[in-house]
Amino acid sequence: MIPYSRQSIDEDDIKAVIEALKSDYLTGGQRVKEFEKALAEYLDIKYVCVMNSATSALHIAYKTIDLKEDDEIITTPITFAATANAALMCGAKPIFCDVKTNGNINEEKVEELINSKTKAIIPVDFGGNPVNINTIRKLCNKHKLYLIEDCAHALGSEIDGKKVGTQADIAVFSFHAIKPITTCGEGGAIATNNKELYEKAKLLRSHGIVKKQVWNSDMIELGYNYRLSDVASALGISQLKKLDLFIEKRATIANFYNKEFKNNPYFFPIQLPLHVKSSYHLYPILLDRSLWCAKEDIFKELQAKGIGLQVHYKPTYQFSYYKKLFGEMKLHNAEEFYKAELSIPCHQEMSLEDARFVAHTLLEVLAKYKRCKT
Ligand SMILES: *Cc1c(COP(=O)(O)O)cnc(C)c1O
Repeated sequence: MIPYSRQSIDEDDIKAVIEALKSDYLTGGQRVKEFEKALAEYLDIKYVCVMNSATSALHIAYKTIDLKEDDEIITTPITFAATANAALMCGAKPIFCDVKTNGNINEEKVEELINSKTKAIIPVDFGGNPVNINTIRKLCNKHKLYLIEDCAHALGSEIDGKKVGTQADIAVFSFHAIKPITTCGEGGAIATNNKELYEKAKLLRSHGIVKKQVWNSDMIELGYNYRLSDVASALGISQLKKLDLFIEKRATIANFYNKEFKNNPYFFPIQLPLHVKSSYHLYPILLDRSLWCAKEDIFKELQAKGIGLQVHYKPTYQFSYYKKLFGEMKLHNAEEFYKAELSIPCHQEMSLEDARFVAHTLLEVLAKYKRCKT
């Protein structure tokens, strides 16, 4: 099976982890700080605080802006559940804004959702394709809102040569196994240029406890244990060195697909504007609407042929937990995106041979399916 995404671990990575395992500190040591420094340099953002997942990082990001009961955030439903869940963890209400045909939040539709309860806007760079951050930044400035960017897909993505995350008050990254780089399967980080938010995040990451003198400490906030270990950070340091190479390899696969799929009658790849660089975390395709009714069969048949697929994402508001809380809702483009989207294999462990197999099999399978009425 060629999975839609997967990690790459080489001998250097393994060596780095073994070294960390043999060292004095498995957690709370220098490797955590070293990883944070390397990330900050890579992103060109002043402060980085690594955590045990992006879900923890989102929770902490929302806590650092003091998100609480009766507050609202505006986010996209085309994302992993954690983006909105972390707001619920704070007692706040996620308001879902519709997306564009590329799966990113429709920045033109955000403003009409802003009210006196709104505290932050949380866009997601879907698949690694950067959102229109300039417009969202201006909107946040105008209405005095925080901009927290869920960059879980987008470590290494760029707009106009600048890394994604630099315009946000807080950018959140994921090091889950299948994300752009990994830290032993789970991991995450926040990045910010705001010292105050950074200090608060660091405090909340580790129980809200500050050291005083000798053995004496004080707990000044109700915090968590969301720390990332030194062993995980060792892998992160080693992986980060290869991130640009990973992206290059994924770009090669994506460019190959783009050529193969040009003008095909079955689906549309997502077009990237010239001024952006994607991390190519995903290669999403959008089926023509005449094939939506056959998507389940297409998915199963491709899987049986050894092609691992995924659908990103079921709109968050469709989860029964959300329906129970907020009732039924439907956003037109999010609904259509969910019906059309398939993520096909695109990762740094694939050869061009693999990509050719995926492309040809996909086109061959799709040709067999009857078009449905739309
Ligand atoms: C993966 C992901 C998360 C959660 O990341 P974890 O590190 O698994 O907690 C959050 N948001 C988005 C958009 C994601 O893809």
